[in-house]
Amino acid sequence: MNGWGIIRGLGVTLRHFFGTYAEDLRRGKSRYFTKQGVRERSASTVRGIFTVQYPEEKLIIPEEFRYLPFLVYDELESGEKKIRCTSCGICAKVCPPQCIWIERTTDPVTGRPVPAPVAFYIDIDICMNCGFCAEYCPFDAIKMDHDFEIASYDRKAEHIYALEKLLKPAVYYQSIRPENFAREEASRMEKEAKTSSKS
Ligand code: SF4
Ligand code: SF4
Repeated sequence: MNGWGIIRGLGVTLRHFFGTYAEDLRRGKSRYFTKQGVRERSASTVRGIFTVQYPEEKLIIPEEFRYLPFLVYDELESGEKKIRCTSCGICAKVCPPQCIWIERTTDPVTGRPVPAPVAFYIDIDICMNCGFCAEYCPFDAIKMDHDFEIASYDRKAEHIYALEKLLKPAVYYQSIRPENFAREEASRMEKEAKTSSKS
């Protein structure tokens, strides 16, 4: 029958409209501006309103969400930052839009290359968030970040990320991707145990 779809659509809207008040009465203020409230409103079983009040509220990001890459460093007991990147250049090679630029460190005495980057740039406006760099890095040195709030008025100053801006500690990586981190650490420990048993 003509118009039946419109009536059904309005029915859905009304169900959500009244459902919002019913849930507000049942749950009270805890439904808004709390992590649990956002989690409940993001579920497929939600009753009533399901939108979030961005930027005051943010959707809960799944672990595998990826936005821009960042470089991981480990914090040594001495407080020194140990950058995992060896400037091997694999990430720059596999990057489809070629938005990574790396310069390797050179030993000032011997002139030989040192496996560490002296410069590392990513043009984040060209990055297509594919995650290839993180997939192919043999040293777990580059990972995909969850931070998507990067708007600015100055592309040249703010959107060409240099080494200092790209570096983040391993504990940060662990906080946004706990399962990936645990899996990689377990694999690293296993490899280390095998190497030490051989020697
Ligand atoms: S981030 Fe990884 S793949 Fe890229 S240069 Fe550094 S070690 Fe190589
Ligand atoms: S996420 Fe993809 S496009 Fe962005 S830097 Fe990595 S490889 Fe390049």
